[in-house]
Amino acid sequence: MSKFWSPGVSELTPYTPGEQPRERLIKLNTNENPCPPAPGVEQVLRDYSIDHLRLYPDPDSRALREALAREHGVEVEQVFVGNGSDEVLALAFQAFFRQPLPISMPAISYSFYPVYCRLYGVEHRTVALGDEWQVPLEAFDAQSGGIIFANPNAPTGHGHGRDAIEALLKRVTECVVLVDEAYVDFGGESAVPLVERYPNLLVTGTFSKSRSLAGLRLGYAIGSRELIEGLERIKNSFNSYPVDSLASAVGVAALEDKAYFEACRQQVITTRERTRRRLGELGFEVLPSQTNFLLVHHPDHEAAQLFVGLRERSILVRHFNTEALRDFMRISIGTDDEMDSLIEAMEAIIR
Ligand SMILES: *Cc1c(COP(=O)(O)O)cnc(C)c1O
Repeated sequence: MSKFWSPGVSELTPYTPGEQPRERLIKLNTNENPCPPAPGVEQVLRDYSIDHLRLYPDPDSRALREALAREHGVEVEQVFVGNGSDEVLALAFQAFFRQPLPISMPAISYSFYPVYCRLYGVEHRTVALGDEWQVPLEAFDAQSGGIIFANPNAPTGHGHGRDAIEALLKRVTECVVLVDEAYVDFGGESAVPLVERYPNLLVTGTFSKSRSLAGLRLGYAIGSRELIEGLERIKNSFNSYPVDSLASAVGVAALEDKAYFEACRQQVITTRERTRRRLGELGFEVLPSQTNFLLVHHPDHEAAQLFVGLRERSILVRHFNTEALRDFMRISIGTDDEMDSLIEAMEAIIR
């Protein structure tokens, strides 16, 4: 508390990101990618002319937006970029969700969404997840100020196919539907091909997970020209240069190496399924996942205690201390060696 803060600042509950430990741990708590960034990224960093840093970057991030447009088969005017998808989401809340009606979101999803609601004074309603922990798209009210959900969802891992998203868009036409595709490359189906036909669809993505660039801070949104223009208006009223020139060059290089991207993605998926089987053998209930993490529960062991036991063995996973998730741990997929260490540690704790 400080008397210098604006009214309301002391009432905020900021988002708590997963810990970034100083000591060397096996880090399976923030869904980073175990593969290094594409080899082309290293080349860009090595060849980067220091003189570029003297100048302001392109405020329109044209080169990066063009690369994303090519990658996703859309026009450059349908692409928006920002300093991580968290920033893109924040700008989207300001551009689209400050409405008379409350927005709708799943009761369990990315915990940043309610934080933005508070910050921007957006009322929200939640819909309970279905029996299989799926986001019940049919439960979203068409009379909403907006709809937001992650697909595949976090931290549950379930994703809907494009047909299900299209059915929602046929029904909900009067507000923005924001589909957060942070994890789509690990087995989900992207809704991007629908932006052509549904002017109220905004799809966000990130370089942090499937492109192994969490430290760089690059995120994007794809949607109709009118939605992208709305985002640009907010961005240019806040920060003209959210993407620096180095990040932009690295982002382009990361998109270029398709074979490398494909190999990393497949490796994560293969390791995930192997880990899922082995955790199952130890008696864990493991939710099916289309992401680079697993949400797990053990019927005979408390998640909070397993978390501490793993931590004592230098393995860091994520435990959310909320009513709905208290019995679960979210485990990011690391290398095969890291996952072997995890399984060994679990065995030791359980037996
Ligand atoms: C990781 C994550 C993000 C944020 O990604 P950044 O681009 O690193 O800001 C957004 N949405 C979901 C669901 C995520 O899990």
